[in-house]
Amino acid sequence: MNLILMGLPGAGKGTQAEKIVVKYPIAHISTGDMFRAAMANGTELGKQAKSYMDQGQLVPDEVTEGLVKERLQEPDTESGYMLDGFPRTIAQAEALTDITAELNKPLDAVINIDVDPKILADRLSARYICKTCGATYNKLYHNPKVEGTCDRCGGHEFFQRDDDKPETVQNRLQVNIEMNTPLLDFYADRKLLYTVNGDQDIDAVFAEIEKILAAMA
Ligand code: ADP
Ligand code: AMP
Repeated sequence: MNLILMGLPGAGKGTQAEKIVVKYPIAHISTGDMFRAAMANGTELGKQAKSYMDQGQLVPDEVTEGLVKERLQEPDTESGYMLDGFPRTIAQAEALTDITAELNKPLDAVINIDVDPKILADRLSARYICKTCGATYNKLYHNPKVEGTCDRCGGHEFFQRDDDKPETVQNRLQVNIEMNTPLLDFYADRKLLYTVNGDQDIDAVFAEIEKILAAMA
């Protein structure tokens, strides 16, 4: 099963991806996570990405497309993949069509998590992440079952992403809102688009996604 998870920053892509991979053994590929890991490791890619990410801007298409092309050749994508945060531009979507054709790993579905942008800035400002495993939490909506202990790995250290701070959030949302509509049209035209209501609790969103995936499996 080869998927794209779409939705504005904060829509719940990472949160739902965590739940999807528990049920389906597919590779979760988050370009944002890959850039953050590269930055943390001080690699050349991380240095290139940093200046863009710090301002809430997109990393240039060539850089991002190269990263995804390499990642889709890893063995764990043989059972399927789920892209999260890519594509974000029409050029990236077109590149992905070529990459998946070349690798013979065509897309099966694009799942769009739809949320009113007005509530996303608040969600993003309240997001925090486990330092050890990357699991996502929210001060307002989704805290670990045991306070201060990650549900997934038992870790005790958490951080807030630099780009979730108020000065960057608005710019990121604006950049992404403008780019999202043409991408949704791109995949609707290709009959690949499924939209779920992301403005309900996390389990209810997952139930909608499960229905779509069950019908495909
Ligand atoms: P994305 O990967 O799309 O940027 P995340 O999955 O990181 O979004 O979710 C953004 C924030 O909102 C996180 O703090 C997450 O815990 C929270 N969140 C995710 N889904 C929901 C939901 N359905 N209702 C309320 N908060 C949510
Ligand atoms: P995310 O974790 O998906 O919110 O991404 C965080 C940041 O990483 C974005 O604001 C961009 O700077 C960069 N990024 C992630 N995915 C892409 C992409 N597909 N194209 C360009 N930049 C990206």
